[in-house]
Amino acid sequence: MIVRNAWLDGQRVDISVADGHISTIEPATEGEPVTVCPPLAEPHVHLDAALLGRRAPNVSGTLVEGIENWARLRDGLTAEDVRARALETVGWYVGWGCTRIRTHVDPGNLRAVEALITLREELASAEVPVELQVAAFPQEGILRAPGRQAQWVKAVELGCDAVGAIPHFERTTDEGNASLRLALDLAQERGIDVDVHCDETDDPGSRHLEFLCAEAIDRGMGSRIIAGHCTAMHSYPDGYAAKVIELVRLAGLQVVCNPLDNIVLQGRYGGYPKIRGLTRVDELWAAGCSVGIGHDSVMDPWYRLGTANLVDAAYMLVHAGHLTGEAEMQRVFGTLSGANHRAFGGAPAIEVGAPANFLVYPAADPIEVLRLRPKPTLIRG
Ligand SMILES: [Zn+2]
Repeated sequence: MIVRNAWLDGQRVDISVADGHISTIEPATEGEPVTVCPPLAEPHVHLDAALLGRRAPNVSGTLVEGIENWARLRDGLTAEDVRARALETVGWYVGWGCTRIRTHVDPGNLRAVEALITLREELASAEVPVELQVAAFPQEGILRAPGRQAQWVKAVELGCDAVGAIPHFERTTDEGNASLRLALDLAQERGIDVDVHCDETDDPGSRHLEFLCAEAIDRGMGSRIIAGHCTAMHSYPDGYAAKVIELVRLAGLQVVCNPLDNIVLQGRYGGYPKIRGLTRVDELWAAGCSVGIGHDSVMDPWYRLGTANLVDAAYMLVHAGHLTGEAEMQRVFGTLSGANHRAFGGAPAIEVGAPANFLVYPAADPIEVLRLRPKPTLIRG
């Protein structure tokens, strides 16, 4: 099999596949131009809540009502229900070329945690294998929600891949930082990752990321930590943002931006002008930090839209993040099949001798992929 006239890392090439492996990569000859890249990776979604938006419509469209609606639905969810919705959503992801997914799951319902951990094993040996990672994410706080700390520990013991926290949602700054310390301790004890919803608020006084970075530096854990959202950074004074971004770089943790949710869930206080509420992707990049891009919600209580196509999240980011320069758009698209793989050990290589495992988009280059957002074909050996 030969994929002709493919954009690959800025070159136009013909790629031939034989016996499940890439046998040659040569300068392009002819044919309709296409774009080739590794399969996409999703660093941040909530499969336990996916597709629930219809059951509990978010009347105000706000983050707070989303959390309330979720809390109401969560306790009644059965393992079968969680499994069915997760499977359907994962199927959509695969259809859009994504074969690695890190899902958060709320330990407030341990049946949901078990359902997703069981699904993780099943998906690993599916026809198109999907690598699922599960992060124990206490939506209403570890310390704030009565009884949640024990459930959160139990969820991690059931076999989660990452420990979550939500420091800005705890009652005080001190309790938020204490929750981070608990999460880092638990992750170290279990030898697993940390994945925090960090400062997902418009409050410029929400400064847990600096604490997380300091702890990551002291514990040497940065490579195993993701800080999701970090939207308060949007509203930080520039001088403070520069300090925190330098700490992110020193700590070596990854910030995951979730543009679809945050463009509508943030900026809800006060009148005009409205802030955008996305973390500072351009400044993080300029400082040399690792940034991932998540879809976050697929038709859930927080965000009623969503298709499980990560290119939609990238499309939103290039607009709302002012990243429409040529190189910036290329980098945003490249993140989906590049930096997004960080938690999974890095993206699979597209090189001679490697197992065939890549996407072919019917579009001439990454900017055309962003513009048209077409379905890719997954080529697997
Ligand atoms: Zn989230």
